[in-house]
Amino acid sequence: MSRLLALCLFACLVTCLSTGDARAADYDLVIRNARIIDGSGNPWYLADIGVKGGKIAAIGKLASATADRTIDAANRVVTPGFIDVHTHVEDLEKVPRADNYLLDGVTSIVSGNCGGSKADLSAWFTALEKQGIGINLASLYGHNTVRREVMGDANRPATAEEITKMQALVEKAMLDGAVGFSTGLIYIPGTYSNTEEVVALGKAAAKQGGVYASHMRDEGVDVLKAIDEAVTVGKEAGMRVQLSHFKIDNKRLWGASDKSIALVEKYRKEGVVVDQYPYDHSSTNLGITLPSWALADGAEAIRERINSPESRARIMTEMKQMVSDKGWKSYEYAIVATFKPETAYEGKNISEINLMKGRPATVDAEIETILDMILLGGAQMVYHSMGNEDVERILRYPNTAIASDGGVREFGVGMPHPRSYATNSRVLAEFVRRRNVITLEDAIRRMTSLPARTFGFRDRGLVREGLAADLLIFDPARIEDKATFQKPHQYTEGFDFVLVNGTPIVEDGKLNDTRPGKILRSTH
Ligand SMILES: [Zn+2]
Repeated sequence: MSRLLALCLFACLVTCLSTGDARAADYDLVIRNARIIDGSGNPWYLADIGVKGGKIAAIGKLASATADRTIDAANRVVTPGFIDVHTHVEDLEKVPRADNYLLDGVTSIVSGNCGGSKADLSAWFTALEKQGIGINLASLYGHNTVRREVMGDANRPATAEEITKMQALVEKAMLDGAVGFSTGLIYIPGTYSNTEEVVALGKAAAKQGGVYASHMRDEGVDVLKAIDEAVTVGKEAGMRVQLSHFKIDNKRLWGASDKSIALVEKYRKEGVVVDQYPYDHSSTNLGITLPSWALADGAEAIRERINSPESRARIMTEMKQMVSDKGWKSYEYAIVATFKPETAYEGKNISEINLMKGRPATVDAEIETILDMILLGGAQMVYHSMGNEDVERILRYPNTAIASDGGVREFGVGMPHPRSYATNSRVLAEFVRRRNVITLEDAIRRMTSLPARTFGFRDRGLVREGLAADLLIFDPARIEDKATFQKPHQYTEGFDFVLVNGTPIVEDGKLNDTRPGKILRSTH
């Protein structure tokens, strides 16, 4: 009798234990019936995906597996989350969930582009980790940032001592986890540098590895020379080269991307790739319409130059030349995105604003209008700078990654370029589905594995076991880029689920309050 009781107890114990075991699910999440477009460029295949501990734990037939949560992806594709290697999110703390990016399918972003980054990356990364972010973030370290730290906005070559100081700061930033070094060679103060300076700083960065990402010295008449300069920096410093927001930015040269793409292709073996946002309008500040010498040494010096009759006349003569060199008869191609002193200007072009001010419709008067606005602190602009033929040709080039050149947007504020909301959805809806410029699988590759490999994100950019579970679930037929130049504040529709490090942050097309993003410090 007592033996029977003992047996019963033993059997009960075994049952209880095994029930306990069975209760712990195999996976945190299983996505069933997924048409996986894995980011390599291959067509979809059908499988289930098991996610555990933020990673893709299994891909295959998981019919008998248990999970805390199951999502049925029937008739939808599952792709890696998009990786946008060209952003400007130095103000990420304002919109730490990065709503506009997540709803456009982006799960990782690289900031610090065009030579502008946070000066102290380590402090920034730590602050963001404390705050919590919705998206994965990496950063380059910027040439303009480091030059301003050491030399202010001085219009002259760096001395040997200044180069040494800048190199030390570049080295520190790389050790803090920067994924590379960026330049913005049309901007103040980077435009005052020579190639030797950039090479010297590139060498300091290259001690840790990383990418050289360049907003080149010219994107118009001298674009081929500018490509050569970027490649020289990469070669001499020992870094691979990313040519940022590749374009032909001169109306008179529209169509000439056949030559610039041919040169990039020639340099492919040196490790040169490009990125692009799929629009014919660019976006940057108003200051670039002025000659760069006029913008040296800070606000007070700029004010003096604009107010002194002699230098003002010289500025105006050069601006007139610049606008006609670009192939325009007026500033109608220059549209105000954000102008704090007078928000009524936002969405209007300079020619319209000039008329609003009661001035005659002449280039001279329009330049006066621009100089007035510069004296009031300048403006963020949208420029009609590209031709459609070039946009499509650059997109067709196989080594063009998709990147927004945008930032996080406070919903409803200003009239920003729509690229921050809709870069990826525009490629998928307009250039894949409506115009058939590239295939869906190829578009996904340029949004995922291509940028991941270039920037050294070895654990992202593909749907593979062991990689981070940054995943999207969507029906490609339902992706719509809603944001336009007239109504930019519209979120993309169609990304049903967005997982960041295994956590769904978009569910049934809606954002939740999780903060699963990580800082992607490069370990080089
Ligand atoms: Zn740029």
